[in-house]
Amino acid sequence: MTQPPANRQDEAVERPWEDVATEVTEAIAAEIEPLIRRTADDIYERIMTGAQDYLAENLRFNLSSRLESAEREAARLRKENYDLNQALSAGAAVREKLVGALKAGRRAIGDHWAPNDCYATGPATGDEYRDLVECPACSFIAEFEALRDAGRL
Ligand SMILES: [Zn+2]
Repeated sequence: MTQPPANRQDEAVERPWEDVATEVTEAIAAEIEPLIRRTADDIYERIMTGAQDYLAENLRFNLSSRLESAEREAARLRKENYDLNQALSAGAAVREKLVGALKAGRRAIGDHWAPNDCYATGPATGDEYRDLVECPACSFIAEFEALRDAGRL
């Protein structure tokens, strides 16, 4: 008499349960492992894409902010430059008038010789030294000639 072929269920029942458990665990692990890996890769890619988007947005914001700041600074400097040029023009006009006044003053004094034109003892200028040794006309002439010699007139 021949034995009927044992089916798998019978075979499994005859094996030690630890071997079956190990085999089932390994089979499940073999199926799950690639799934876990794909899921982990997917999550990692999403995190990286999210981080890239965040960093790119952050960079755009920072660049835009710095650009606006630089544009405001440039506008402020243009205004300051304009104001300085206006002040320089006004200063040049005032200087021209002052130089004219100094030259007119020098012409008004004309020749100035001691003792006929120059009076070294007064009137007082408030400066002790000058009140002793120079008259106001001499002081004016000294300042005028110093400026003229320095090329400022
Ligand atoms: Zn004098």
